[in-house]
Amino acid sequence: MIVTFQPSLFEEKIFQNRRIYFKRDDLLDVDFSGNKARKFYAFLVREFPHIKRVVSSGSNQSNAMYSLSVLARKRGWEFIYVCDHISSFLKQNPIGNYAKALENGMRIFESPAREVALDAFLDSHTLHVKEGGSQKEAEEGVFLLARELLNDVEREHVENPYLFLPSGTGTTALFLQKHLPFKVYTCATVGDSAYLRRQWEVIEPNALVYPTILEAHRKYRYGKLYRELFEVWKNVQAETGVTFDLVYDPIGWKVLTEHLDVLQGTPIYVHQGGLLGNASMLARYERQANML
Ligand SMILES: *Cc1c(COP(=O)(O)O)cnc(C)c1O
Repeated sequence: MIVTFQPSLFEEKIFQNRRIYFKRDDLLDVDFSGNKARKFYAFLVREFPHIKRVVSSGSNQSNAMYSLSVLARKRGWEFIYVCDHISSFLKQNPIGNYAKALENGMRIFESPAREVALDAFLDSHTLHVKEGGSQKEAEEGVFLLARELLNDVEREHVENPYLFLPSGTGTTALFLQKHLPFKVYTCATVGDSAYLRRQWEVIEPNALVYPTILEAHRKYRYGKLYRELFEVWKNVQAETGVTFDLVYDPIGWKVLTEHLDVLQGTPIYVHQGGLLGNASMLARYERQANML
């Protein structure tokens, strides 16, 4: 299968009187959420003559789930997805990634023992994609992103660049650091820094290529609503015109701005997409109207 992505935009912005560059991977492809297009690139371009379906598991609003539904549709594969639980409210009012993945033909199953339930679908015609796409195959597409960034930095004469991006599984940050000559900083959004390191140890034995983890001044629980983070989201939009996702970016931006004074060089923020997920996050913020 032939798939080519045009290099995504590289934009210079001013935020609170500081120069900061954005790598707009959110605009990479209309169908995929930015970094999932990079992580699943190998599954888009390699030959899979025997594969007829793809199975995966995770949360019922995950960007990876939606992107896998796109992959399956493009390749003509069946798509099976196992999640813990789907509330009856969501079943009756499908929204966001969940709604769009169903439109793409996803068959979704609920099971409190996701991995066990998933095993039942595995056979020689089935491709198993790990939760969040955290696996070695992600390196191929993320390598191309690293190459683009090297071109961007050279073309725009960015002095002493460093990269920042928020991590879920940390796979994107890991392979970026592995293939870039300048520093890659990240922060944990799922679990803590120890969790992030353990994720890296599973897919990359060479600890010398691990990104540098920055700690948030306070703890945020993954997927939870915080008035403070919603303010961050609105401020970035107002000042730069860039719309962030509401799960990863507000935490990432908070952590980056908390450290800007001590980091040397010119920051590049990788916008990894995920905007489809904003519909369900905004609906949750609206239901808690006292937070807005
Ligand atoms: C999936 C995702 C991430 C996390 O990517 P990892 O490679 O798992 O660290 C970050 N931001 C957005 C918008 C995502 O969809």
